[in-house]
Amino acid sequence: MQVYKFGGLSLKDAVGIKNVTEIILRHRKENLIVIVSAIGKNTRLLCKYAESCFADSAEKEKSYLDFQKNHVEILNELNIREKDEGYDQIMDCILKTGNIRMDSNFERFSDQVISNGELVSSMILSSYLKKTGTDNQWIDIREVLKTDNHYSQAHVNHEESLVNAKNIFGKQKGIIISQGFIGRSEEGFTSTLGFEGSDYTATLIGNYLDAEKVIIWKDVPGIMNADPGKYPDAMKIDRISYEDILNYAHAGAKVLHPKSIKPARNKNIPLEVKSYRNPQLAGSLIDEKGSEIKPPVIIVKKDQAYLRIKCRDFSFILEDHLNEIIKLMHKLNISINLININAISVEFSVDRHDLKIKKLREEVGKSFQLYLKEKLELWNFFNLPDKSIRDKMDGKKEFIRIQSGKNCRILCSSNQNELNI
Ligand code: ASP
Ligand code: MG
Repeated sequence: MQVYKFGGLSLKDAVGIKNVTEIILRHRKENLIVIVSAIGKNTRLLCKYAESCFADSAEKEKSYLDFQKNHVEILNELNIREKDEGYDQIMDCILKTGNIRMDSNFERFSDQVISNGELVSSMILSSYLKKTGTDNQWIDIREVLKTDNHYSQAHVNHEESLVNAKNIFGKQKGIIISQGFIGRSEEGFTSTLGFEGSDYTATLIGNYLDAEKVIIWKDVPGIMNADPGKYPDAMKIDRISYEDILNYAHAGAKVLHPKSIKPARNKNIPLEVKSYRNPQLAGSLIDEKGSEIKPPVIIVKKDQAYLRIKCRDFSFILEDHLNEIIKLMHKLNISINLININAISVEFSVDRHDLKIKKLREEVGKSFQLYLKEKLELWNFFNLPDKSIRDKMDGKKEFIRIQSGKNCRILCSSNQNELNI
């Protein structure tokens, strides 16, 4: 059995859905589970809709109508009509999205709304496959993936989900169409696993069912060693280890969701990233061994803030305070990307988020001084010679630089004009 995952871009219109159908037919082995995201940018649209419902703003109507229009247009182009199997469920799901009961818990309400993107896209793909003669089974992944009540960032209960996956998916043969990103909470509502979470769903299902392989179909030829938009000579990496790709994803490479590596790695399931535009070409293979040849890799994480937290009373940061500071940042959901420890201060590169950092300042204010600098970039270099790193940093002001072996991570200003310190 194999698992395929298709993101929103691959399904963005009728042509995209037809292409995905072709890939399923041409490339699939005997049993296949297909995990899909919402079509195009509909998750973002539904987020806007949920926010405007909550604020009771005039935008609410427009966002919902756009969501409806996007899907009805695709149904028309695919010629999916009333008589076709699945049509009623699709329309029902679209209509229900506009009538979700308000809730005092915004995250819970939002999850009930945005999950419909994945439900509708999977229903459309299933219906189109049937209409064009390919039998398949649509499965509601919420019957399988059970989570806690931490809406918008729910944690999966693996014991329960594993049993469900074996019972529900394990019994089916042929093609199954299901959804990424969503699950069912302890209290019985729909939950979501965090944005871009469909990769994670695909590898989790692969893990539970001991899949032979998981393929993530993307708009790039595979995993690239730099952003091809910025570096025209960026190259595809043919083979890479789970550990290296996890480091790249953590450093900010967008190609895979960082959470999606562990489930594949823990069952040694080969993970492939392939192009849905050129499905006949080999993509990138991720496995335990990776390749001996490690190409240079550059990953830039934008919108970073530099934080320096210093003890007011001159006590050592490490022994006395580091634990407390990190716990607080975790509580405030501040994502730490780099840490550097000095005697009485600690420096961080964190994702910029004004409100959270303001809260942090309030909470640590009594015992610590907090210095903040925003609009920075975290440059991550793997396997790059010092000379190339120097060239790339030329004219940028550096705040933190951490070098370990052949890897170097530098938090710096985003423009070249500030002088180096
Ligand atoms: N549709 C969700 C999102 O846009 C999940 C995903 O695409 O993986 O974040
Ligand atoms: Mg998406």
